Amino acid sequence: MSLLKVDGLRAYYKTEMYGISRMVRAIDDVSLELQPNEIYGVAGESSCGKTTLIKVLSGTIKPPLKIQGGSVKYQFKSSGVDMADVSHEEMQRNIRWKEISYVMQGSMSVLNPVRRVVKTFEDIISTHEGIPNHREFLERTREHVKKLGLPPDVLNSFPHELSGGMRQRVAIALATVFQPSLIIADEPTTALDVVVQRGVLQLLKEIQGQSKNTVLLVTHDMAVHANVADRVAIMYAGRLVEEAPTEIIFQRPSHPYTRHLINSLPVIGDKSSKSGLEGTPPNLANPPDGCRFHPRCPKAMEICKTEVPVMQDLGNGHRSACHLITGGKESSNG
Ligand code: SF4
Repeated sequence: MSLLKVDGLRAYYKTEMYGISRMVRAIDDVSLELQPNEIYGVAGESSCGKTTLIKVLSGTIKPPLKIQGGSVKYQFKSSGVDMADVSHEEMQRNIRWKEISYVMQGSMSVLNPVRRVVKTFEDIISTHEGIPNHREFLERTREHVKKLGLPPDVLNSFPHELSGGMRQRVAIALATVFQPSLIIADEPTTALDVVVQRGVLQLLKEIQGQSKNTVLLVTHDMAVHANVADRVAIMYAGRLVEEAPTEIIFQRPSHPYTRHLINSLPVIGDKSSKSGLEGTPPNLANPPDGCRFHPRCPKAMEICKTEVPVMQDLGNGHRSACHLITGGKESSNG
């Protein structure tokens, strides 16, 4: 059974300025499923809807963001949860941290700069389980950080005394203290240098392997997905355009946008210059008709300008939304 089923999700920002209202269609008809015990990567450039998707899946929606349609349903170990029915209190008390936790870019947002790390652990544990017995709490917390390979004295440090990589490891330790069903990792290594990045990703992968939970890894960095994810979904302009097991996405990408993302990855020894995509991602307040990628797509056909391509099942867990799969003629963009 899937851990998470997202069906036809639409989430828009409604803004009003000088009497003119605008609807920014950040997520527009996205369907996906997350399985227990997997690392599911979501990739795509800035403004493709990745951050909005995280907000919806983690239940942190605030106006002007509003769900316009579709559903988000979880099947946790203890119960099934329809996010449309969950109150803010229920979310805070029983779901956030315990079932769904969050590792974001820049760990300082979760660590209190004026409190030692151990106090942040205490704050989180006491919020969800009541004031802990101090000795048991310390034993449990020390054991937890030790299991993750962190030095125990990290607990007595203030966040500013730790390196960026160590702070991010502490953020991962906090996110896993209740063994949640889902860890959402939002660009967890973007601010780190490559060597530190590798260590943090390794830790995330090890924890997932031990706990057999699910990690939703959101990053624009395709190289990170290649190293860590079991499956990868590609988003463009608020829509999912392709999804497949990682090996298939990198070896047999079907969608022209996915091909572009993969072809722009640097290859050791390849000195040829990489050509970028023409144009910029569309304004989601007024997205193009048909396939939203058509103004930039080197393979665009007439049909792409008017008809939204439907997600097609290509077998082996591979699906892609492109008119090329079903045939057609190329237009002047080509
Ligand atoms: Fe390109 Fe058309 Fe496929 Fe969109 S549907 S990616 S425009 S070929």
